[in-house]
Amino acid sequence: MTTTERKKCLVIGHPVIHSLSPAMHNAAYKALGVADEFDYSTWDVQSGIEEIVEEIKAKGIRGCAFTMPYKKDIVSLLDWVDETAKEIGAVNTVVNEGGILRGYNTDWLGIVDSLERLSDLKGKKVAIIGAGGAARAAIYGVLERGAIITDIFNRTPEHTEKLAREFGLNCAIRGLDEIKEARSADIVINTTPIGMKGVAEDETPLPKEFIGPDQIVFDVVYSLEDTQLIKEAKDKGAKVVAGTEMVLRQAVHQFFLHTGIEPTEDNRKKVEQAMEGAIEEAREESRKEIKQETKEGSREKEKNR
Ligand code: NAP
Repeated sequence: MTTTERKKCLVIGHPVIHSLSPAMHNAAYKALGVADEFDYSTWDVQSGIEEIVEEIKAKGIRGCAFTMPYKKDIVSLLDWVDETAKEIGAVNTVVNEGGILRGYNTDWLGIVDSLERLSDLKGKKVAIIGAGGAARAAIYGVLERGAIITDIFNRTPEHTEKLAREFGLNCAIRGLDEIKEARSADIVINTTPIGMKGVAEDETPLPKEFIGPDQIVFDVVYSLEDTQLIKEAKDKGAKVVAGTEMVLRQAVHQFFLHTGIEPTEDNRKKVEQAMEGAIEEAREESRKEIKQETKEGSREKEKNR
């Protein structure tokens, strides 16, 4: 099979230029010996979702990963949507089966798989920071595994109330100024972009005095280096899950949906290892770039003295 005949998979959204998905999936294709059959790249796009759907069908794109801002809007345009994705209200994974577009949500699996490597979730008290799409995936996931949502901390109370109503939660609805109450949770999950590059990079939604060594702190913010929250949680001896781990674990599920390959234990291990390797390479590359920029910055300063 030639390159042009390969089945195309895409991560779609804006911005996706720096997405790790192509590197992770292409590494996994190689690891499972299907790199001559599948190819994964980015489609950085800001057009209407209807046009995007038409193009996926017209071009016969095999699989897509949707990120911001399309995850919610795509749901009503698909031919079939998995029950879990319907409950979460968002689709991040689309599979094109002969022109029939099927939608799934693998974000919740990325959250649950990451947490279950650290602890059983049954009966655990979970506090959520934020009330958007990632919060919905987190709430669905931890409830599914028998945990209890005790608190949701968010900026806009109406959003929290709506979320709690939709999931039938009987939890405390709190403002971000009440965050000290998160200390009594077993697991705290930040689903706001606080700490994200370009948003509030050096900030944390959970000051370190309210973190303890008995807790698990999960930051969904996608960053190759530790966010401020992850740094401080590590300092306090808490167990941590970073956003890149969620990206990796959800991508493993996405890989098997896109390729149709059987997710045997052996295949899963190979995919996980390949994807982990791709993330590590990207991390090293980014560190080199930062070093280079710092060197150039110092030379510039020296010149201007
Ligand atoms: P969303 O639906 O827009 O929800 C964002 C939530 O964060 C809302 O509750 C919003 O509060 C709150 N928020 C936004 N900016 C804030 C600020 N400056 N201060 C305080 N609260 C703020 O977004 P999303 O899709 O859930 O994504 C949230 C984050 O998760 C993003 O950083 C995204 O990149 C990340 N994410 C990561 C993964 C992964 O695999 N690691 C997957 C999905 C998402 P209001 O209710 O007041 O608006």
